[in-house]
Amino acid sequence: MTPTPAAARDPFALSAEERSVRDTVREFAQREIAPGAAGRDAEERYDRALFDRAGELGITGLPYPEELGGAGMGTFAWVLACEEVAAADMGMAVSLSVHVLSQLCIFSSGTDAQRQRLLPPMTAGRHLGAFALTEPQAGSDASAISLAARREGDEYRLNGNKIWISNAGQADVYVVFGTVDRARGRDGITAFVVERDTPGFRLGAREHKMGIRGTTAAELVFEEARVPVENRLGEEGDGLKVALGALGSGRIGIAAACVGLARAALEHAARYATERSQFGRPIAQQEMIQAMLADMATAVEAARLLTWRAARLRDAGQPINAASSMAKMFASDAAMRVTTDAVQIYGGAGYSRENPVERFMRDAKGAQIYEGTNQIHRLIIAQQLLDAVPRGG
Ligand SMILES: Cc1cc2nc3c(=O)[nH]c(=O)nc-3n(C[C@H](O)[C@H](O)[C@H](O)COP(=O)(O)OP(=O)(O)OC[C@H]3O[C@@H](n4cnc5c(N)ncnc54)[C@H](O)[C@@H]3O)c2cc1C
Repeated sequence: MTPTPAAARDPFALSAEERSVRDTVREFAQREIAPGAAGRDAEERYDRALFDRAGELGITGLPYPEELGGAGMGTFAWVLACEEVAAADMGMAVSLSVHVLSQLCIFSSGTDAQRQRLLPPMTAGRHLGAFALTEPQAGSDASAISLAARREGDEYRLNGNKIWISNAGQADVYVVFGTVDRARGRDGITAFVVERDTPGFRLGAREHKMGIRGTTAAELVFEEARVPVENRLGEEGDGLKVALGALGSGRIGIAAACVGLARAALEHAARYATERSQFGRPIAQQEMIQAMLADMATAVEAARLLTWRAARLRDAGQPINAASSMAKMFASDAAMRVTTDAVQIYGGAGYSRENPVERFMRDAKGAQIYEGTNQIHRLIIAQQLLDAVPRGG
């Protein structure tokens, strides 16, 4: 009998190249990232050397074209990598996702000269990126930002602050959103690249987070910060388009990270359930534990399929707004449920810092909040659905 080709057996089978990306990143993440994850969480410490190593392996520029120093592999390969990094350490996965997000703003909205100047050091992993949108009075409503950008000759002067900026203090390149005229509302919002040594730009208060503590988040302060006009991305007033366009794609990476985190929690819980005995037999033989494991496994698979679909759509140049929101919302809610159930399966041991599942649970919570809260994603999905409903007449 002729053997069935892999693709016919499994319509979601990976190509040889995709398997190679996944396996290479898995091996690197398990060998070099996973062992220090608990320590970095406890000490709230970012390890820049891991980013450097990710750069050597080509992970830091995976989706970007080879002529800009990337691997030219697209969003799907990126989500495979992101799942593997998050299965080892969600903090590192978030740091890399934000790095890729900041590159996306430059890649999608920058001029050729900006791409050639700014991206190669980022794809190579020499420069780390950050994405700075959130302000004290502008979170879910990004159009309310008030960081002021005043043009003076061939410079802009930036005044104001950003909060909750991941990779802050570590990053070399910050994509920052300000307004050239608050009265213009969303039409005044403008994107800038701010390099770390920019005069008038400094780090503010650091956040002490519940989870993903292996990556930093902090306030950025701008006091007459001098940004050359050549660092403006797009035209004045294009900023919200730059931010929302990048976030639409970037959140597919967050979805993939949530899949990796949930998968790690499931693997730990399943193993523990076979090792821990009560009432004379492993708890894995209790039907209620089996039901939890079954629901957890189903949630991981469903989240992965939504994530892969969004990534494939993006690589095919199809609209992804609802698809990426569904993937991010579902995967982060799934990660929250799965990691909570993993703690439950561990019992008291799950509530102890001696075991990783409590860290996974804390890490999962953030993903329901950043890159758009899951309430906002429900609004986006519902809006797209309702826009498509035929109007009676
Ligand atoms: C760990 C972490 C990392 C982050 N990293 C970054 C980063 O790198 N760069 C960056 O710019 N920002 C970052 N953020 C900020 C993040 O994007 C914001 O926290 C998020 O957008 C929500 O804004 P907010 O915190 O101001 O909440 P708010 O907008 O004040 O929302 C409060 C609550 O109200 C709900 N809500 C608001 N509006 C609506 C509505 N219309 N309908 C229904 N419910 C609504 C929200 O869902 C939420 O539950 C990060 C946040 C965290 C926690």
